[in-house]
Amino acid sequence: MALRDISKTSRHYRIIESIFVSMCNSKLFNDIAVQDENDWIVNHQSDEQTFNDWCKSYSVVKSTKSRICIQPIGDFSGPGQKLLSWLQSFCSAFYFGVQVAVLPPVSASKIGCKCRINPETRRCQLRATDIIDHLKQTRKPHALCTVAVTMIDLYPKESWNFVFGLASLTYGVGVFSFARYTDTFYRTPPAKESTENYMCSDITAKLLWRACKVMTHEIGHMFGIKHCVYHNCAMNGSNHLAESDRRAASLCPICLRKLQEALKFDLADRYGALVKFCEGSLTDSTTPLSEFADYGEWLKKALSFLESKQYKSQVGKRPR
Ligand SMILES: [Zn+2]
Ligand SMILES: [Zn+2]
Repeated sequence: MALRDISKTSRHYRIIESIFVSMCNSKLFNDIAVQDENDWIVNHQSDEQTFNDWCKSYSVVKSTKSRICIQPIGDFSGPGQKLLSWLQSFCSAFYFGVQVAVLPPVSASKIGCKCRINPETRRCQLRATDIIDHLKQTRKPHALCTVAVTMIDLYPKESWNFVFGLASLTYGVGVFSFARYTDTFYRTPPAKESTENYMCSDITAKLLWRACKVMTHEIGHMFGIKHCVYHNCAMNGSNHLAESDRRAASLCPICLRKLQEALKFDLADRYGALVKFCEGSLTDSTTPLSEFADYGEWLKKALSFLESKQYKSQVGKRPR
């Protein structure tokens, strides 16, 4: 069983555990859909990380650090600023109880990040390892993790074509790019290509949906959560964009169990905050939220499920 941990037997712990077991047996979570042999899951079906495996490996659980930092790289003025505030709101609800801070944007040149023009796409790319080095040097001591985001494409080393993101779990830092999530990326690049060309000019529903999903997935790794092989889940691995698009926004009970153990949040309060985000109550506009509609409905079902198990009265008030 991927959940049970018999070493802890307090009453509160047993109640929480039984809620997660009943979630596993509910119809809330779907199996991972396999569509072709290039899918990540095809070659990793046995790479499981049970809740007990995670408990043994995860040390930040005992940490007093309580902040997630988002470091924008490049131009995030105008709509970009709005995108950052959406990301901040979503992360605050997803990592419920953790403060999420957006740091002032820095340019790639200012942090000494190497840039190249990719010969295939003819678009600018930043060397992700330089950004990781910068984050290692500047990370805040009280931060659980610092994740850099950029609208510019990334590459990890000269021989590689591109990478969606890169992370160092040891240092709690990571970087990922939203460049390939925009509709304009595969169109003809401007004649005079430079990093200056990249800013978020339009927050489409798809960009926001993908950016929120990739961000929460990558931060999940910072909590020591490995790729999930149990259900369709926010922590599923992916080898390509189509596979990550199929990935759920929600955490399955096994991955949620890990995060709940790390952050000790109230499950219903967290789902409630995510519903508010999906309905636009945490921000001043609902325009780019159309992709969140199904997720919002799913969250309401999950809340009803918790109600049917008398979650609130069972868990009651307890010290955090
Ligand atoms: Zn991953
Ligand atoms: Zn999972």
